[in-house]
Formats: sequence, C-alpha cells, structure tokens
Amino acid sequence: MDIYLNNDLKDVEKAVSEFCQQELDQEYLQRLEDEHKYPRELFEKIGELGFIGVGFSEEIGGSGYGALGHVVAVKEMCRKLPGIGMALSLGYMPGIVVDIYGTKGQREKYIRPMIEGRYIAAIAVTEPDSGSDIGSLKTRMEEKEDYFVVNGSKIFTTNAGYADFYTLLAKDEDGLTALLFDKELIDENGSGHFEVNDLGRKMGINTTSTGELVFSDFRIPKEHVIGQRGKGKKIVLDGFEIGRMMTAAQAFGGMLYGYEKAADYAKKRKQFGKPIIKFQSIEHDLVDMYVEIEKCRSLLYKAAWLYDKKDPESKKYSSMAKLAIPESAIKILNRSIDILGGYGYMRDQGLEGALRDVRITSIYEGTSKIQRNAIAKMLY
Ligand SMILES: Cc1cc2nc3c(=O)[nH]c(=O)nc-3n(C[C@H](O)[C@H](O)[C@H](O)COP(=O)(O)OP(=O)(O)OC[C@H]3O[C@@H](n4cnc5c(N)ncnc54)[C@H](O)[C@@H]3O)c2cc1C
Repeated sequence: MDIYLNNDLKDVEKAVSEFCQQELDQEYLQRLEDEHKYPRELFEKIGELGFIGVGFSEEIGGSGYGALGHVVAVKEMCRKLPGIGMALSLGYMPGIVVDIYGTKGQREKYIRPMIEGRYIAAIAVTEPDSGSDIGSLKTRMEEKEDYFVVNGSKIFTTNAGYADFYTLLAKDEDGLTALLFDKELIDENGSGHFEVNDLGRKMGINTTSTGELVFSDFRIPKEHVIGQRGKGKKIVLDGFEIGRMMTAAQAFGGMLYGYEKAADYAKKRKQFGKPIIKFQSIEHDLVDMYVEIEKCRSLLYKAAWLYDKKDPESKKYSSMAKLAIPESAIKILNRSIDILGGYGYMRDQGLEGALRDVRITSIYEGTSKIQRNAIAKMLY
C-alpha cells in the first residue's frame, strides 16, 4: 500500500513506466552521448503523451497532480535509464519559475507548448563568480524607455543553445529581477548581442548541453519581467523548491535503477556453484539498499505532499530530500557496480554511466552543503 499515491497517480506511473520500457534503451543512450545530443524527439513524445504535464495545473494543459505528480513522472523516467530520464526532465524543470510566477499570457506562450513537448526551457542564474551565492551575481540590466539592456555572462546553463525560452536573473539598483527571453527575441536583437558557448563534455548527463551565455547590450522588453521587478531572488528560489524535489526524484529514480539491476544480476550470476545472491554479504548489501530506498521514498513523497498541501514545513522537507537522496543514490549506484563485479565497470551495462549521471544531483539546484545550511536555518 502506498499512503501518498492515489490510484490515478499510480496509473500515470504505470503509463510512464511502460512507455520508458519500450522507448529507452542503453544503445540509444550511448548514441546520444557520443553525439552529445539532446533527445528532442523523445521529449516531444512525452509531451504528446501528457507525461511532462503530470504535475502542471489543468488550466495550462497539465493533469494537476502537483509536486507529487512531478516527482512520480521524473522518478519513473530516471528509473528506466537515468541518462535519458534526467535529460527529459531537464527539458522542462527550468520552466517551473515561469509556471509559478508568469502572467497568464507568459504561461500560455511558453508553458503550454512546453507541456506539449514543443518548447524546451532553460534558466540562467549561475555566473562564473556567483554560484551558491546568488545575491552576488553581476549581470546588469539598465532601464531604457520600454526595455532593459542586459550585459554580463552566465555559466552552466542547461539546454543552452537549443532551449526555446530562458529565464535570466539580472541586477540593477532595485535588486535582482527575473527576465524572460526566447529565440525570437535573440533573432530580433541581431548578431553580436547574445552568444552561447558550449562547455563541452561533462562527467555525466552528456545527453544535455551545458553552456555559457554572453549578453552584450541585449535588449529585453519590460513586459518580459517574470513576477515583480526586484523580487527575482525570491522568485527563482521559490521555483527551486520544486526543482529540489525533482532533482531528488532524478536521484531516486537512479537509485532504483542501480538496485534493480544489481538484484537481477545477483540472482542470475553464478560463482562457486551458486547464484551470488546466496552469499550473505551480497544479500545484505541488497537489503541495505532496499531499506535505504524506502527511507528515501518516504522523504521524497512527504516533501512533495507537504508542498501540495501548502504546508510551511515543505521547504525544510524539500531541502532534506535534496540533501539525502542524491547522496544515497551515489552510494547505492556505487555498491551496485560492485555487485556486478568487472561487468559493472563496463559501459554497456549502464551502471557506471548512471553513477556519473546521477553525481550532479548533489551539486545543482543547491549543493548538499547549501541544503545543510538551509535546513539548519529552519531548525535552529
Ligand atoms: C551540469 C550542470 C548543470 C547546471 N545547470 C544549471 C542551470 O541550468 N542553471 C544555472 O543557473 N546553474 C546551473 N548549474 C550550476 C549549479 O547550480 C552550480 O554549479 C551550483 O549551484 C554550485 O555553484 P558553484 O559551482 O559556483 O560552486 P560554489 O558556490 O563556488 O561552491 C563551491 C563549494 O563551496 C561550497 N560552499 C559554497 N558556499 C558555501 C556556504 N555558504 N557554506 C558551505 N559551503 C559552501 C559548495 O557547497 C561547494 O562545495 C549547473 C551546473 C552543472 C555542473
């Protein structure tokens, strides 16, 4: 029995699972990684099937299952194959800020097509000298008649280059403001005002691009402000609350992937005349993983459930989930590799890649140390 998921959400989970079972495979992942390519066709398909929209509200084309819906969909995609599941979820996670704070017009223009799988989102907050300390960012916006002129640079922007719309955090005397821009506006600005430099291959998630954005007198009309001018930090951090749970869900899916592969292998692999699962040390390893998984599941679903109930405790729980689950996932994937022995180290088995992919979950959307700081602030 599951105390958090109702039957409707379980049906959604099953549908996502069946789709991933059919469409996601290791060979396809390796091809994408080698070509350093985003799985755009698959993103379109999951949009058409309604899987992006699980957590978004019905008025904008979603199914209305809230944060719990988001984490179930993300978890299930990453459970089948983290390298692709993470890329798919990263196609829409950066749009959450626009969904929460955008006007009806902005949400219709950007969020609806994103839910339908036609638009990919990006969010550009981090800068070369401003990572965890968002308030210290340097990208400037200067007010002109009916637009702002933006100068500065961003680093580590996921989906840079192929995103259809971006949320940008920039600064002026009013504080930080979140601004929207899209491909159309990039074209209107003309050459020399916006540049994307791909940062190349990473430890993992090479199914996505991570880039540097450079703004030189880049014009953004005033109606592209998201929420209120000067309130950008709060706006972005509010979006990060769902982002933290979705990141924890990526890691949770990754740990399920590791555990299920290891358990399956241990039943089939024979050494010293018997399946290795019959060796108590292997069996205990798997039991420890199983217990850890159930602890993480409770924490993740509780965080999302509290968020959907608008409970003030949800902030603490989303940080706790973001802290605990990525760290557990990294350990479980590492132990899964050990259970497969030498085979676990090979690329085609998938586990070494999954470990590299999931490794980022304890870094982006606020590092583990930053989550500890945030939890401490709420506790003491
Ligand atoms: C693959 C990838 C994708 C990303 N995608 C995006 C994206 O789409 N958009 C975006 O804006 N950013 C993105 N990021 C950036 C990511 O969010 C940052 O890397 C992260 O927030 C940490 O910032 P930093 O790298 O500058 O590290 P720093 O903030 O410099 O931190 C370095 C170390 O110091 C620790 N530290 C810092 N401050 C404190 C403190 N107060 N107390 C204790 N320890 C502290 C950190 O935990 C870390 O261990 C991405 C990064 C990567 C690698």
